[in-house]
Amino acid sequence: MSAFEGFPIEISPAFEGQRVRRKDMYVELGGPKIDYKFELVRVKPMDEVEDGKVEIIGPDLMDLKEGGSYPFAILIYVAGEKLDTDLEGVIERRIHMYTNYIEGIMHLNQRYDIWIRIAKKSVKKGLNSFSWWGRALITLFKSEMPYIEKMQVTFITDPELIKEKYEEALKIYEERDARVRGLKDEEVDMFYGCVLCQSFAPTHVCVITPERISLCGALTWLDARAAASIDPKGPNFPIPKGELLDPIKGEWSGANEVVAKRSLGEVTRVYLYSMFEYPHTSCGCFEAIAFYIPEVDGIGIVHRGFKGTAVNGLPFSTMAAQTGGGQQTEGFLGIGIEWMRSRKFFYADGGWNRIVWMPKDLKERVKDAIPPELYDKIATEEDATTIEDLKNFLLEKDHPVASKIREMEKAAEAEAKAEKVEEVAVQQPVQMSTMPQWTPQIPAQAIQMPAVSAQTGFKITLKGVKIKINRLIIKKAGGK
Ligand code: SF4
Repeated sequence: MSAFEGFPIEISPAFEGQRVRRKDMYVELGGPKIDYKFELVRVKPMDEVEDGKVEIIGPDLMDLKEGGSYPFAILIYVAGEKLDTDLEGVIERRIHMYTNYIEGIMHLNQRYDIWIRIAKKSVKKGLNSFSWWGRALITLFKSEMPYIEKMQVTFITDPELIKEKYEEALKIYEERDARVRGLKDEEVDMFYGCVLCQSFAPTHVCVITPERISLCGALTWLDARAAASIDPKGPNFPIPKGELLDPIKGEWSGANEVVAKRSLGEVTRVYLYSMFEYPHTSCGCFEAIAFYIPEVDGIGIVHRGFKGTAVNGLPFSTMAAQTGGGQQTEGFLGIGIEWMRSRKFFYADGGWNRIVWMPKDLKERVKDAIPPELYDKIATEEDATTIEDLKNFLLEKDHPVASKIREMEKAAEAEAKAEKVEEVAVQQPVQMSTMPQWTPQIPAQAIQMPAVSAQTGFKITLKGVKIKINRLIIKKAGGK
C-alpha cells in the first residue's frame, strides 16, 4: 500500500521542476508581492514534539480568496536521538524539494523569501486543506531522513502572527550564518557541494566553502558538511579541494573535477571568487544577483526583495531569467547575501572597492560588512536610478572606480573624435568630384577590415545586442 493512499493528489519526485503559472494558480503564498513570509525548522527535545500533528493557524486553503497572494509561514518541529541544531538548515532546505513532489504545489526559494503557488487543478482534485501538504511532508521527511523520529508541522496564514514570528526567524537565520564566520577556506581540506536545485537548473552545482555560502543562503559549509555526513546519498556531498590553481580567483582542481562530473561535463572550470571568465553557475534560488555595469566598470547588487528597477534599468525578475538555469553567465552572478560578509567576496574583482550600487535596505542589512570608508560612496536607488546618475554620483564621491570612469571618458572622447574624422573621410566618395585626392585611401580601408579578421582567425559572436546604423554606404568593389 502506498504511503499516500487516500490522498486526493499524487506525490512523486516526478513533479519536481513543475511550474504553476499565474493563470493556473488557485492562490499564491509568499512571493514578491508579500513582505512577510518564511519557513523554519527547529530541532526540539523528544517530549516537545507531537509526532504527525498538522496545525493551521489562520484561514485554511479553501478560506483564502481565489487568485490572491497571502503572507505565509511554515514552522516545523523535529526530534530524534541523532538530531542536533546543526541539521536544522539542512532539513529546512528539503521543504523545497519535498513540497515540489506534491502535484500542483510549486515551491521556490527559501528562508524569508519563500514563494509558493497552488494549482487550481489540484484544488479541484480535492487538495482542499493545508493539512494534506503537512501530512505529505511528514511522510516524506520521515521516510527519507530516518533520523527524524518525530515531526509536527504548523502552517500560519494569520498575518499578525507571521509578522511577529518573522523577526524571530530572521534572528535564527543570522545565528546559523554567524557560526561559520571566521573559518577560512585555506583551513579546511574539504568543500561541500549541493545539487538540490538540479530539478530546476540541471547543470547547476553549488560549491559551498567556509567563505562562500550557498547561493540560496540556506546552507553554510557547516550545514552542508552535516548533511553530507548524515545522508551520504543525498544532494550534499564532499568536494576534496585538490590543487589550488589560482588563490585569487578561487580555482581548485578538486572543485573543477566534481563540478564537471555533477554537471555531466557541462561546466569544467569554476572561479569561486569572481564573476568573470568562469563564474560559479547560478540556479534560480539565489538571494541576490550581482551584475556588471560596464559604463562604470563596477558591480551592482540587487536582492530578491527589491521591488523597483535596478540602476541598469532591469528589475530583479528580468535579470534572474538571464542569470539562472545552471549556466555560467559572465557579468551576472547569483549570490547568497551572507557572502557579502566574506573575506573572499569578489576577491578577484576588487571586492567592495568594485561595488557601486545596491538597494538601500540591502545596504543597511549588510552595513557591518561594508568598509566604513566606502559606505557613503556606494549608491542606492535614492542616489541613482540611471547609469548617468550613477556615473555622476561615483565621480562626485570619488569612489574607487572614479579614476577608471575618467579614463574611460577620455578614451570615449578620443574615440568620438577619431570617428568624426573617419566619418568625414567616408563621406568623401559622394563628394569625389570636389575632392578627388581622398578617394584612393577609402576603398583600401574598407577592404582591409574583413581581410584582417580573416587572417587573425577570430570569430566574434554578438548575442543580445542591438545594432543601430546611422548611415550605410554601399560601394562597388574596385572603386568604380
Ligand atoms: S542554491 Fe545551492 S545549496 Fe541552495 S538548494 Fe540550490 S543547489 Fe543546494
